[in-house]
Amino acid sequence: MSAESPGAVRPAVSQLPAYRPGKGVAQAEAEHGITDAIKLASNENPYSPIQQVVDAIAAAAVEVNRYSDHRASELRSAIAEWHGVGEDQVTVGCGSVGLIQQLFLTYVDPGDEVVTPWRSFEVYPIDTMLMGAQLVPVPLVDGAVDLDAVAGAVTERTKLVLVATPNNPTGPAVSTDALRAMLKQIPRRVIVLIDEAYREFVDPSFGDPVHDLLPDFPNVVVTRSMSKAYGLAGLRVGYLVSDPAVVTEVDKTLLPFAVNFVAQEAALAAVRHRAEYQSKIDVIMSERERVVSELEATGWQLFPTQANFVYLELGDRTDGIYVELERRGVVTRPFAGEGIRVTIGTPAENDQFLAALAEAIN
Ligand SMILES: *Cc1c(COP(=O)(O)O)cnc(C)c1O
Repeated sequence: MSAESPGAVRPAVSQLPAYRPGKGVAQAEAEHGITDAIKLASNENPYSPIQQVVDAIAAAAVEVNRYSDHRASELRSAIAEWHGVGEDQVTVGCGSVGLIQQLFLTYVDPGDEVVTPWRSFEVYPIDTMLMGAQLVPVPLVDGAVDLDAVAGAVTERTKLVLVATPNNPTGPAVSTDALRAMLKQIPRRVIVLIDEAYREFVDPSFGDPVHDLLPDFPNVVVTRSMSKAYGLAGLRVGYLVSDPAVVTEVDKTLLPFAVNFVAQEAALAAVRHRAEYQSKIDVIMSERERVVSELEATGWQLFPTQANFVYLELGDRTDGIYVELERRGVVTRPFAGEGIRVTIGTPAENDQFLAALAEAIN
C-alpha cells in the first residue's frame, strides 16, 4: 500500500487528530503484564444498570430486525415530562456528543468562530476543526470557567459558545446566576451550549439551566447524557433541551435511526425508573467527598469538583505519575504536561487509586 491515502481527503479531516478514548483495562493489563486493573479513565458509572434497564435491553433484543423510531417519540416525551418542558423542546441523539456534532452541522460554517473555555471537553476542538471553523479558547482561571472572558471573546463571527458545567476535566461548575450574567452580554444570534453531562452529580444550589435560563434565552441549548449517572455509556444516548425552533433545525441533521432501538428502550426504562438511581449517585457523590478529603489531607490542592471525577494538576510530572498509576493497575486519563483526571469509582476502586497514588508520588 502507498503511504498516501486514496481520494482527496478534506484538509479539515487530514489535519484532524483522532479522538483518544480513555484506555481500556485489557490494554493496560497487556502493556504492564498485570491483572485486575481498574478503569478510572472515562467517567463512567462503576455500577451495572438497574434490573429494569437490563430487562428492557433483553426484551428489545428480539426486535432489532426492525429499524428504530427515528424520532424516538416515546423517549422524547418521557424526557419532556421529566423536566416539565414541551415535547417539541426535546430531542435525543447518539450520545450527547452526537447532539453536539449536530449543533455544529446546524450552525457552524467554515471560517466561523467557536468560543469555549479551555481546557475543556476534547470533542469541542475536534468538531470545530471538522467544520473548518476557528476555535477561540478562553483560558480557565484556577480550573474554573471565566464567563466574563467567554462573553468578551464573542465576535461577529462567533456562531457557537460551548460551556461544560461541571467543566471536564477540571471539575468546577458554574451557577445559572453566573450564566445569566454571561448570556446578557451575548447576542441572540449566537447559540450557547450548556453541556451538562454530569448534571446529576452537581449540587442543586447551582441551579437548573432548563428552568432558570431557557425561558428567557431562546439561544440557549442544554445537553445532558444518559452515559454518566444513568450508566448507559455503552449504548449512546444523550438529549438536548432548547427552544422548539432549535430542535426543529437540529433534528434535520440526525443520521437516520442514529439512536438505536435497544438504546431507546434502555433509556426509556432508565428515565421511568430514575428514582432507583439515586442511591448509586449518592454513593458516588459521598465517595467523591471522601476521595477529595483524603487527598487534601495528604497535601493536594484540588479544584472544587462537582462531577464524578477529580483532577490532579501535575504539570511535568503528569506522564510519569500516569504510568506509575497504570503499573499499579489504575488506569486514569492523562493530559500531557498538565494533569490527570481520575473518575470516582466504587469504594474499593477509590481505595486502590488512593493507595497507588501514594506510592506513585514518592
Ligand atoms: C462524557 C461527556 C459527554 C459525552 O456524553 P455522551 O452522552 O456519552 O456522548 C459530553 N460532554 C462532556 C463534557 C463529557 O464529559
